Amino acid sequence: MRRPLIAGNWKMNTDRASAVALAKAVAEKSGPAKHVDLLVCPPAVYLASVAEALSGTPVALGAQNVYFEDNGAFTGETSTSMLTDLGVEFVILGHSERRHVLGETDADVAKKTLKALDAGLAPIVCVGELLEEREAGRTAEVIASQFEGSLAGVSEDQMASVVIAYEPVWAIGTGKVASPEQAEEVHADLRRLLSERYSPALAEKVRILYGGSVKPGNAAELIGQPNIDGALVGGASLKADDFLGIATAAP
Ligand code: PEP
Repeated sequence: MRRPLIAGNWKMNTDRASAVALAKAVAEKSGPAKHVDLLVCPPAVYLASVAEALSGTPVALGAQNVYFEDNGAFTGETSTSMLTDLGVEFVILGHSERRHVLGETDADVAKKTLKALDAGLAPIVCVGELLEEREAGRTAEVIASQFEGSLAGVSEDQMASVVIAYEPVWAIGTGKVASPEQAEEVHADLRRLLSERYSPALAEKVRILYGGSVKPGNAAELIGQPNIDGALVGGASLKADDFLGIATAAP
């Protein structure tokens, strides 16, 4: 049985005080969401402050990105050991904003995924098609190619620690949510890819999150689908009540 994961991607939002206040509010009000795992991913510069605010609470801490080298002359980048040093447990990789705004490739995502796994971080590897790709009937092909490319070199043992997030790019921050049937179709495809590339047993273990305009009002139906194991939440994760509304709605 896969335990649902509800992850908040705060993106480049909040300041230090509001990040700490949001983290504390999520932790304090998390009681009714005991049936799910809760995770917040603040901006990198606030990870330390949020780590302190979450200490001793059931809410886990994640980063929004990491670099694939250990240390050295990589101005502006953050290493896996810097993240684990702060108590970070998860890292979002290959988010569509990094792929499409910042030019990240599947090969970059694969290098980061392997580096994160080496450091004991759980990668949340994002895949998702553009609107024109969906309209051209290419969704399955795009997802399969991102799956292969972004997870290149990941062993079956390592894959047990990976979370996949299906985030149709046209549904991110747009208010347009994929229908539960559209999302389930891609999630079922991803689970089949896991089963074929690794094993049916591994495929049953890996959590596959949906992301794209998830709100308290649509969470139950989405997360109620057989192959949807939680949500990666952007906008609605910036309000503790909305974020926890999604978490408590999860079956
Ligand atoms: C995201 O950024 O991962 C996301 C899903 O955003 P939103 O919930 O705002 O669509």
